[in-house]
Amino acid sequence: MRALVILGTFALLFCLERRRPLRRTVDSSVQRTERNLAMAGLAAVALRVGEQPVARTLTTLVECRRWGLLRMARLPQWIETAVAVLLLDYTLYVWHVLIHRVPWLWRMHVVHHVDLDLDASTAVRFHVTELLVSVLWRSGQILGIGVGQHTLSLWQTLTLLSVLFHHSNVRLPLALERILVHFIVTPRMHGIHHSIVKAETNSNWSSGLTIWDRLHGTLRLDVPQSAITIGVPAYRAPEEITLRHLLSMPFEPQRPTWR
Ligand SMILES: [Zn+2]
Repeated sequence: MRALVILGTFALLFCLERRRPLRRTVDSSVQRTERNLAMAGLAAVALRVGEQPVARTLTTLVECRRWGLLRMARLPQWIETAVAVLLLDYTLYVWHVLIHRVPWLWRMHVVHHVDLDLDASTAVRFHVTELLVSVLWRSGQILGIGVGQHTLSLWQTLTLLSVLFHHSNVRLPLALERILVHFIVTPRMHGIHHSIVKAETNSNWSSGLTIWDRLHGTLRLDVPQSAITIGVPAYRAPEEITLRHLLSMPFEPQRPTWR
């Protein structure tokens, strides 16, 4: 069921991107989509092998031994689930800032940012190493907040749907997007985070709710999509971002990203 909803959302966005594109694309080749989906396939394997067993063990421990902040509070179930989802979303904001600010984490996350276009396929294009390292953060989230299996799975599904949506290259009616961005991250908002301009990339870190960027003063909505070039300055040549290069990128000496 979960897989169907996710695949259906991806297919819907994929169609809408062709009917109502938000930004002009640089590389509309099938190879680009194939490359991103190949990265996504490897990422899915990494999550299954690296994250799932750890998350299952820790959520079981949290449920059995009542570990974590929320378990101590003994709230009604639905409030506990809602607060846990909020805290997971906030701590994902913090993780996103960290993977940009800490150089050895950035060399993994840069693989996501060097895409010359931004669409739903970029949403699932992450380097395996970034996902494996994020298991440590996920473990901290589960143990610190006190997240059970059901809540974790709910949040993961909501986050994946949100990530697909806000990476998509779909032109929503501006009036609708202006309402949505009060609450959730939208394609225009996240487009600014993928800009080639450093000051623009260093904004809009939220993955679900926009409240975290509002609270931290990191929300930017003042850049028109027509003024945005997607990517990072250090890697602009298509021959440098083939699948082989993407896979080896975190292990190679890196150029200054924002020269
Ligand atoms: Zn980022």
